Amino acid sequence: MFEKILIANRGEVALRIHRACREMGIRTVAVHSEADADAMHVRLADESVCIGPAAARGSYLNIPAILTAATITNADAIHPGVGFLSENAHFAQMVAEHDITFIGPAPEHMTVMGDKIAAKAAMKKTGIPVVPGSDGPVVEEDEALKTAAKIGYPVIVKAAAGGGGRGMKVAHDDETLRQALPMARAEAKANFGDDTLYLEKFLETPRHIEIQILADNHGNVIHLGERDCSLQRRHQKVIEEAPSPALNAATRDKIGARCVKAMKKLGYRSVGTIEFLYENGKFYFIEMNTRLQVEHPITEMISGIDLAREQIRVAAGAKLDVTQKNIQLAGHAIECRINAENPETFAPSPGTITDYHAPGGLDVRVDSALYSGYRVPPHYDSLIAKLIVRGRSRNECLMRLRRALEEFVIGGIETTIPLHQRLITESDFINGDYDIHWLENLLDSEA
Ligand code: ADP
Repeated sequence: MFEKILIANRGEVALRIHRACREMGIRTVAVHSEADADAMHVRLADESVCIGPAAARGSYLNIPAILTAATITNADAIHPGVGFLSENAHFAQMVAEHDITFIGPAPEHMTVMGDKIAAKAAMKKTGIPVVPGSDGPVVEEDEALKTAAKIGYPVIVKAAAGGGGRGMKVAHDDETLRQALPMARAEAKANFGDDTLYLEKFLETPRHIEIQILADNHGNVIHLGERDCSLQRRHQKVIEEAPSPALNAATRDKIGARCVKAMKKLGYRSVGTIEFLYENGKFYFIEMNTRLQVEHPITEMISGIDLAREQIRVAAGAKLDVTQKNIQLAGHAIECRINAENPETFAPSPGTITDYHAPGGLDVRVDSALYSGYRVPPHYDSLIAKLIVRGRSRNECLMRLRRALEEFVIGGIETTIPLHQRLITESDFINGDYDIHWLENLLDSEA
């Protein structure tokens, strides 16, 4: 097992990885920007190294600085966390070249899944159904129009290198498609440095359902059921739940088994998430994330499996110590992503936390790096806390979540807690009756 892991991240996810390491008796090295010298992940780690200025480009994305930090602290592995370099195959390769273990999949799997066109092709080959579309990049306007005529409007233009819900444009006819293409291309270039686009059928009432995979280096692969992440704003997840109110056990077992088979065929290892749109009883693959997901705790809550710990174990070469038969999913879990934002306008709200009180009690988990007196810097993602609650039933979970949100105090800045309080009392949400467009429609109807 590793003796010392460098955690190449910040905020709640850095803390999440630190906690797993601690419970495994592994020492930790925190890296931080100049803006994060007082951050909780730095305070709790055994050692810390400042790797650059506030802007992530010079610090959390600075590969030479991170490799130097790992070398001088003698870390034997690097955990990339979520976001930043976690899906950067070049980084994984560089880490390996320094004789340090990258805690994640093989770089070649990161490369394939990092390109959504290649990912769709690879998954299709293993027998996984994909969203109908261009089956490759669209270069010329003519090609795009032809594909749209074949699959039928509406269509969605997406960036092959996309992420974070950015760079997607919906078109309802030839004219809007002609307009969407150059806009999507410019956005893709600006955000991802790659303007490769592809086209998909735009599904009008799907749910977002994703399957959690866990695989070791010895060919063992299991799945831990699904998460329903349909509650989204601007294609970004807001509330997630497991299990999905839309799936029964037979459907879960079937799609889970298909994903396991696909991962075995690809020789995938580490944790991973296979994302689908689910409409009229059918699954359509959209992308795969080759890292831990922000919403992984809801799976941990109903499975009792510490995914970060398993990810570290398999990276060290250990065999999975659970089999598919051992996996018992029990109860229901929901996660609310709490952002430092105005709950109505979603304008960022960085600043100093004047009061902080996290909720507690049975089956209530808060993943956050906040503390009273901490200053939320303006330079990074606005996610500041995740409230994760479990109940024996979905109803018990909802009642507990309502109670936990009431107890949560984050003073001094605006947060999205009031939005969550409102959403979980909406009858559609209570009935589990919502798709990926539900939240946008609700917000639009109030604007
Ligand atoms: P990203 O990597 O940017 O998160 P994804 O491909 O995972 O992009 O898609 C994010 C979200 O965008 C999905 O959960 C869904 O809400 C929406 N979306 C993506 N593709 C389609 C599609 N073909 N039809 C309808 N909505 C889609």
